[in-house]
Parts: sequence; C-alpha cells; structure tokens
Amino acid sequence: MPQPAFGSKSLFILSFFALITTLNLELAIPLSDPKSPPSPQGVTLTAVGDLVMHMPVVNSAFSAKTHRYDFRPIFQEIKSQLGAADITVGVLETTLTDEHHLQSGYPRFHTSYQLAEALRWAGFDLVFTAHNHALDQGVSGINSSLTHLETVGLPATGTRQSSQQKPYYIMEVNGLKLAFFSYTTLTNGLNLPSARRWALNTLDFNKIGWEILQAKAAGVDGIIMALHTGNEYARYPSPADQQLYQRLCALGVDVILGSHVHVIRPLEKVMIKDPFSTYSKTCLIAYSLGNFLSNQRWQYSDCGLMLTLHLQKKLWPPGLEIKLLNCTPLFVHRDYQGYRILTVAPPEKPDPTPASALPTPLQEKLREVWSDTEEILFDWPGGIKQLHPPFF
Ligand SMILES: [Zn+2]
Repeated sequence: MPQPAFGSKSLFILSFFALITTLNLELAIPLSDPKSPPSPQGVTLTAVGDLVMHMPVVNSAFSAKTHRYDFRPIFQEIKSQLGAADITVGVLETTLTDEHHLQSGYPRFHTSYQLAEALRWAGFDLVFTAHNHALDQGVSGINSSLTHLETVGLPATGTRQSSQQKPYYIMEVNGLKLAFFSYTTLTNGLNLPSARRWALNTLDFNKIGWEILQAKAAGVDGIIMALHTGNEYARYPSPADQQLYQRLCALGVDVILGSHVHVIRPLEKVMIKDPFSTYSKTCLIAYSLGNFLSNQRWQYSDCGLMLTLHLQKKLWPPGLEIKLLNCTPLFVHRDYQGYRILTVAPPEKPDPTPASALPTPLQEKLREVWSDTEEILFDWPGGIKQLHPPFF
C-alpha cells in the first residue's frame, strides 16, 4: 500500500525541524556558534625575563630595623607598567624559603619568601618556575616555593606539588582563555626522584603535544610558553635553538618567551602551518628576554626586555591574533640605595625620569642599553626594525 504524502514519519520529521527552528530562534547564539564571540577588547600581556636572585640583591632588601626583607623598592619604578597589563608574567629563577638563615645565591638559589609578596605587589599575575635552578633545593624547594606563592595569591606554573594538578595554567580574562606553559631543557645535572619526575616540566615534545591537545579541548584560545634554554651569554640563537622554537610553534604554541641566557636575543614572527586547522598561523618568538633582575653588572647582562602583547581571538581564519604593542629595554640600576629596575627611554625622549635628574654615567649607561637592544633586535632576519609600533 502506498504511503500517504504526509504520513506519521513525515509529520515527525516536520515537527522535529519546527522544534529546532524554535530552539534556534530562542537560543540563536549557542546553536549557531558554540563558542562565545570574540571579545572586542582582547587581553594585554606583559612579559619580562629572569629574576636571578643573587645574594647582593637579596641582602640589599634586608632592613636591620624591621628584620624583614622588603623587595618592593626594587620594583617601585616599574610597578605602574607591570600593573597596567591584564596579565603580567616573569621567570622566578630561585626557590623560596621562610628560614632566612638558609638563604643562598649562586649556585643553589634559595630566597626569602618575602620576594613573593613584592612580586604580587608589583603587579605580577603568574610566575614561571621551570628553570635550571628549580631543583636547587630538591623537592622541598619546589614545594616551599609553591606554598609561599600560593599564600600571597600569586599563581605559578612549571613545577607542581601534586601530580593531580595540571602541568600548565589556564587563565581567562575578557573572555579570552589562555594556557601558560613553562618548560626547561636544563636542570644543572640535578634530578628528581623517578616517582616525582612530574614535579618539574622538562622538555618532552610528546608530553607538550599531548598537553596542548588537552588545553585546546578545554577551549583554550592561545598557548603561551616560557622556555628556559640555550647557551648562556650567546646573544643570538643557534640553529639548534631556532629549530627547537619552530618545532614548538608547529606543535601549536602561539607565543614563546625564551629565558636563561642572561642576555636579550632577537624577536621573530614566523608563519607556520596551524596544526589545528588547514590554515597558516603566526607564532611570535622572543628568543630571550634577558635578566629582569640580577647582580650581573656587566654589559648585555645588566639589562632585559619587557614586551607587551595584545592578544585577541579571531574567528577567521580561526586562531589568535598577536600584536606587539610595546618593546621596552630595561636596566637594573644599583647604587647606595640598592637595586632599581628602570625602563630605558629613547635617547631623544628622556622620559619617564627627567634627564637632568639622572647622573651623567647613568644617562650614558641607559644610552648604551638602548643601542645594544637596537643592535640585537634589528640585526635579525624576520625581526623588528624599530623600537616603536608598528614593529612588524
Ligand atoms: Zn637559568
């Protein structure tokens, strides 16, 4: 027997479509686009290099009056710039302790926990803890560092107290979800007990690839990686360094913040095949941001680089839009008052500190930092050609 034109099956299909249409009208955004639309304002991210806590720096923060360490004056001049970004990150290249008599500098760093308070105060939102000094005080050093950071409300990634914690850190700001990774290729010959290998992120492409997949599955829009690697004091990345960074970009990392070599290195924007789509994507590489704070008083190591990026979700081609907003040379100044991290203004524009207020040797030093920075950043294929926007 032939079926009627509108049998029960056809009626069911029609009602189903009617239901979908109704739902689609009521829930237009979730059905048409399961992800939230791109945030119009995006996120600003400020990144600096290594905090290498040599004892002269630590001792300068000690107050004989209060018997406390107050590191805040070191960051006084740069605090407003660190605090201006939505997210500010840096590399905490030491371990933290509340047993002040156990403090030490190179080669086994152990610093007063009061540094964590100062970093929070200065505007840091996250610190990277995977570096060649992470194991200086063994597992207990990792644990005490993370406990003190947690106490002041400063998140960290790169080391873990529990294998249940994620090996990366996800932050969502203005609707943009970012995953922060911190990895090191070096541990100064120190090893974790085999049962606790997970406590420090050491470079492993399979592990990183798997973690990127997990982060993407969690809806992350961008992957930012701090990478501690390279030959110290070498001002340019080696071909092996370049290969390593590009391989990480090819795995899906969007921004790589290099550290460890105690000098700044070039910036580079590379186009690479996006492993998560059929399109190409941009990856921003900072081969090294240098020292943010240290007692290395010589040329190229007494300075660093502060980058501010604007990150925004883009729908087409899908991915992360990365814009370099600011690239600022930094100098670690030391005088009878202690250490101060200063931003270096262009020689023709002596801001923010009036030139007349600075002693002549310091003015000369700042000019040297500026020109050394230009030399490294400009003299690199694919790098930037000026120290103001547009950079690329
Ligand atoms: Zn290092």
